[in-house]
Amino acid sequence: MALKKCKTCGTLFDSIGTPFCPACVKEMDYRYKVVRDYLYDNPDQSVEEVAEATETPEWMIMSFLRDARLTMKNASGLLRCDQCGRAITSGRFCDECAAKLGMKVRGAQEAIRAGYTGPRMHTIEERKE
Ligand SMILES: [Zn+2]
Ligand SMILES: [Zn+2]
Repeated sequence: MALKKCKTCGTLFDSIGTPFCPACVKEMDYRYKVVRDYLYDNPDQSVEEVAEATETPEWMIMSFLRDARLTMKNASGLLRCDQCGRAITSGRFCDECAAKLGMKVRGAQEAIRAGYTGPRMHTIEERKE
């Protein structure tokens, strides 16, 4: 067991590998659903507009996109492939690089799309560094 300081609210908590305390993880899950539902009705909005309308911080929306939990039409230009820098709409790599990197990345993204929402917060941690 290791005490960690939550990246969002600063509370000390017993970390099981996430940089956020259980309350914030819960909050993020809730926010995710709000943003997802909002995007469903408003697919053409920008990250700023969605952030304002759903009262969700932009970095949180970006982290959902990075985790491939959300896809946004207007994310291109904001999200770039980690490998080649090409604009992408979701996840961390473009299709080409994902294919090159093998099934590992693709499998993980598909698991998320299929509804896996377990503690997989290290990508958010990398992003915020
Ligand atoms: Zn917290
Ligand atoms: Zn690429």
